[in-house]
Amino acid sequence: MIPAPFEYHQPSSVAEALQMLTRLPEAKLLAGGHSLLPMMKLRLVSPTHVVDLGRIEALRFIRQEGQTVVVGALATHWMVESSDVVRRTVPMLAETAARIGDVQVRNAGTIGGSLAHADPAADYPAAILALDAQRSPLGGSLRDCSPRRWLPTRSSWR
Ligand SMILES: Cc1cc2nc3c(=O)[nH]c(=O)nc-3n(C[C@H](O)[C@H](O)[C@H](O)COP(=O)(O)OP(=O)(O)OC[C@H]3O[C@@H](n4cnc5c(N)ncnc54)[C@H](O)[C@@H]3O)c2cc1C
Repeated sequence: MIPAPFEYHQPSSVAEALQMLTRLPEAKLLAGGHSLLPMMKLRLVSPTHVVDLGRIEALRFIRQEGQTVVVGALATHWMVESSDVVRRTVPMLAETAARIGDVQVRNAGTIGGSLAHADPAADYPAAILALDAQRSPLGGSLRDCSPRRWLPTRSSWR
């Protein structure tokens, strides 16, 4: 139950993270670690480089922009569950987040990590599809790296 050796990287900005991903295309991103770390411990994945997003505070937000609710990739399940903006405008998403795992999982796990992991048994995917939500590098997946290029989540899951 011990992961294979890997090199750990901790960028402090989106720009630095993107530079690392360009240099290390095989690197795995680490968000809350609640799906990736168990897979590494079971050696289902053995990345040689892990890029920890945890210090990039610019990705940890929830805000309203006009008619749109924008959720940063590092927003935790607890942030989604307790956000006034989400509760008021998309209560289904807050209710979905509140049903994920337990308090520890909701405090560490992130919406970006859950959507990237895309476990069909997870709670967010059905809600996100029902809401016809869109993803961007600053909203969901850091790997689609042109800023503010919004992608319909529906088309990235088959
Ligand atoms: C005990 C337990 C109970 C759980 N119960 C539930 C449950 O009831 N419902 C549920 O839906 N989920 C559940 N989960 C999963 C949990 O919600 C995870 O937090 C979530 O699936 C992954 O989010 P994370 O932030 O931990 O991502 P990580 O584990 O850090 O990463 C997951 C994957 O996404 C990639 N990734 C992470 N962030 C990004 C990003 N910004 N851009 C691109 N790729 C990225 C990583 O490289 C990795 O491949 C549970 C987990 C545990 C351990």
